[in-house]
Amino acid sequence: MLRRHSLPYDRFRTLILVIVAALTGVQTILIPFFVSYDSVYTFWFLMSLGLFSVVFIIIAVVRQTVGQKFALAFFWVVLGISVVLGLTILPPSLGQISGFQFLTLAIAATATLRLSPALFFSASGLILGTAVLEIRSGESLPAILVFAWVVAISVFIVARLRRYLDSERDAAVILSQVDELTGAQNRRGMDVLVPILDDLAERAERHLGCLALDLDRFKSVNDSFGHRRGDTVLKEVVAAIRSTTRRSDVLVRTGGEEFALFTIVSNPEQLHTVGETVRKAVEENCRAIGLTASIGGSLGTAQSLPELQTLLEAADHRMYEAKDAGRNTVVVA
Ligand code: GH3
Ligand code: MG
Ligand code: MG
Repeated sequence: MLRRHSLPYDRFRTLILVIVAALTGVQTILIPFFVSYDSVYTFWFLMSLGLFSVVFIIIAVVRQTVGQKFALAFFWVVLGISVVLGLTILPPSLGQISGFQFLTLAIAATATLRLSPALFFSASGLILGTAVLEIRSGESLPAILVFAWVVAISVFIVARLRRYLDSERDAAVILSQVDELTGAQNRRGMDVLVPILDDLAERAERHLGCLALDLDRFKSVNDSFGHRRGDTVLKEVVAAIRSTTRRSDVLVRTGGEEFALFTIVSNPEQLHTVGETVRKAVEENCRAIGLTASIGGSLGTAQSLPELQTLLEAADHRMYEAKDAGRNTVVVA
């Protein structure tokens, strides 16, 4: 359901990785100019790491999206570089500061990877960072504990923030796909859910059925009882349809007093039976105001949105035949 929202998230992940790469790259390129080394190999080792970062940044900027696996591999490489730098190349005085690199990596991984690899990576980074601090700089135990505590709390906060943002996004997506008045799906929800239902139908070697429903002379309900009562009736109609259909069926409010029900069936006769059940449910629930529904049905597929549109139009056609046949009727192709 959330697939089409994943692209901006890929871009966010790319941005974070580019920032981390820039941090590593700038650091490795600048170090030789501030710290003198005996070995020319050290100089070229650092330059190669800087080049790695520059190449990565170029690839990421050109491609715009970086996948989960690539991101994890990248973090492991940067973690390895940080350990080598911290243990062998950086002077002990810089060792203390290099601990913060592990903090940055843990936060970046928690923000961009799935939770379990992120936590595994953060824990590894924490252990390796602690080892670097201890071995290289000989920090006191309290200092190491403070470092570990800062990393753990930062990772926890970022992980919670992500969960919060994910649930807010899910809620917003669901809201954008639901009709405010009745709670049925709107057309956006239909476009997302019906192709999934069609996949299920295909796997079960059955068919996707669509029932188009239009309430009969609904205008007169508004005229007689007022628009507010009309709204309530629409909600009651949705509740009545829901009470007789499967939980997996997709009920859509396609227009003012028009609905579509998508369901999995074996043949047109079965779709007709479902249509009859829905028709009776509306008739019985709205007996007090004499409201009925005309229903048209058609079988088809919805692998693409144009296919879904064609299926809905075919069912709509049958619905007009039901109107012509005197309303409160079901017509299935
Ligand atoms: P028919 O049997 O031919 O379908 O007659 P009808 O009166 O249902 O058809 P028509 O399309 O002429 O009118 C539909 C009415 O539905 C008009 C409008 O007042 C009402 N309607 C549409 N949306 C809403 C809504 O959200 N709330 C309420 N209360 N009424 C609505
Ligand atoms: Mg209508
Ligand atoms: Mg109508």
